[in-house]
Amino acid sequence: MLKAQNLSKEFHGQLILNNISFDLKMGTIAAILGPSGSGKSTLLRCLSRLESINSGRITFQSHPLTSLSASSIGMVFQGFFLFPHMTVLQNLIHAPLQLKQLSKPQAQSQAMALLETFGLSDKATQFPNQLSGGQKQRVAIARALIVNPPILLFDEPTSALDPELVSEVASLIQSLKSPDRLIMMATHELRAAKLPADHILFLDQGVLIENATSDIFFKKPKTKRAQQFLKNLTI
Ligand code: ADP
Ligand code: MG
Repeated sequence: MLKAQNLSKEFHGQLILNNISFDLKMGTIAAILGPSGSGKSTLLRCLSRLESINSGRITFQSHPLTSLSASSIGMVFQGFFLFPHMTVLQNLIHAPLQLKQLSKPQAQSQAMALLETFGLSDKATQFPNQLSGGQKQRVAIARALIVNPPILLFDEPTSALDPELVSEVASLIQSLKSPDRLIMMATHELRAAKLPADHILFLDQGVLIENATSDIFFKKPKTKRAQQFLKNLTI
């Protein structure tokens, strides 16, 4: 279980995440929803340890987040951030080799197996700028998956893609659901969240104003703000 207790984050004295608490069980896909600027990316960056927190506590399986190994948390960034000077295969094997998690032949064979799963076997020797947006994203997901992180985070997985790809990405994320993995995705795109997410965290100005199963959230959001958000997005 991932547990955040009274998590707060400030930038330049301004409270960006305000006393956030939630629990998420393994096997869950949770979507972080909310308007632009509400703190979704900051929350993911705190969970991925790219940002420190000002107060509160985050634990995973009862251990402080800071004590987890580097391979415990995978993040697929908005815009993907593939290494441009490396081939697809080199992008994938970089982390497991850096972390000394796999030997080079093991890393290469796992990378090729992942590329095959994602329909990208023929792209192994190509560079990121030779790929379409959808292919780059699948490479970014494969790169995060290769170290087999129990926590997998996605920041706006559909924002850099053509609108037609949104449901494809939603299905791909859903296909990654597994009892020993927790997936969280920040998105302002309702369609990206609706299919795969079991659980919704809704942020408004850094405050977690809804923390509910998807069924409850989409049928009967408690707050006016979430009702408005859903209404605007479904028009
Ligand atoms: P969202 O992902 O929901 O759009 P963000 O987490 O990116 O929201 O941003 C939330 C707020 O935090 C915004 O007001 C943004 O300007 C501010 N913010 C985010 N990152 C930084 C930073 N590194 N330094 C200062 N302010 C930041
Ligand atoms: Mg964001």
